[in-house]
Amino acid sequence: MGTGRKKILVIYTGGTIGMMKTSNGYAPEKEKFHQLMEAIPELKSEEMPEWQVVDMDPLLDSSNITVREWNIIGSMIAEHYDRFDGFVVLHGTDTMAYTASALSFMLRNNRKPVILTGSQIPLCEIRNDARDNLITALMVAADDCVHEVCLYFGGKLLRGNRSIKYSADDLIAFESPNFPPLAEAGIEIRYNTGLLLPAPKGPFSLQKLQNVPIGVIKVFPGIQFELFDSIMTERLRGIVIETFGAGNIPGNGDMLLPIIRKASENGTIIIVCSQCPHGTVSLGAYETSATLKKAGAVSGYDLTTEAAVAKLYYLFSTGMKEDEIRYHMEHSLCGEISLESEER
Ligand code: ASP
Repeated sequence: MGTGRKKILVIYTGGTIGMMKTSNGYAPEKEKFHQLMEAIPELKSEEMPEWQVVDMDPLLDSSNITVREWNIIGSMIAEHYDRFDGFVVLHGTDTMAYTASALSFMLRNNRKPVILTGSQIPLCEIRNDARDNLITALMVAADDCVHEVCLYFGGKLLRGNRSIKYSADDLIAFESPNFPPLAEAGIEIRYNTGLLLPAPKGPFSLQKLQNVPIGVIKVFPGIQFELFDSIMTERLRGIVIETFGAGNIPGNGDMLLPIIRKASENGTIIIVCSQCPHGTVSLGAYETSATLKKAGAVSGYDLTTEAAVAKLYYLFSTGMKEDEIRYHMEHSLCGEISLESEER
């Protein structure tokens, strides 16, 4: 690499963006993807930052990404942190919002742009969204104003821990329903500068995650809570409950509440999120939710389930005590909960 231009490390983890057609359907392929990237003339333009690609080994469909891969990606960033101005993580779309959420917590005091992107159509296809997502993500990663983990897709730069995949086939596949986009890429990349996180003051460090046993339960009409009694033991350290609307559970929780009370007394952290992508949990607004709080559940306010899962992994991995974890689940660490919720 030469000098003068920003230096960006591209971490290729797999996903549709770099997949090739095989007899078993699309699958990631390292060499071919590198060749395709090299063949994009715009990526060599003087207006672009310099970039270098490292591959995760093995490359994965993101459905197979686990805590182990989050630690690998986090370590790759930490290892190269001082040598690069920004990072682009090429990732499958299916779990990109989870990885973006996890990295936002793991990369403590991160001041450099870490931009996750991918595509719905692989770069090898003539008509694709990979090329634009890649070029724009590289440009954003070279921008001095971004000091956080973001997800760039389909013209929108989103806060990583606010994002969700909301379309399986649209080229605009991600949203951050409870937080406006940090930037929109039209003729120009227009930043919503007032929303960007400021550069942190402390030193950068990586908090690796442990594969803590946690679970997600989505309630539905007719749910037989008693079936969950046997799994909600002290072995399960954290549970995200996806409730109706503002935090409501069916049947006033007759069956669920004793289970939650028992689990909570055993030290399990229970976080209440909503099945509605937009809006916030407000425990106590209805009788059907007030009881959850009394039983020891903690409000996730407007946290996405993706961020709630990643935050549970993170907080448990720091070695914090349960009371501290409960406190932090209700307060924002890096922009994952709205301030209004935080102040309730
Ligand atoms: N299954 C793919 C993945 O998440 C889908 C994609 O990348 O769009 O890796």
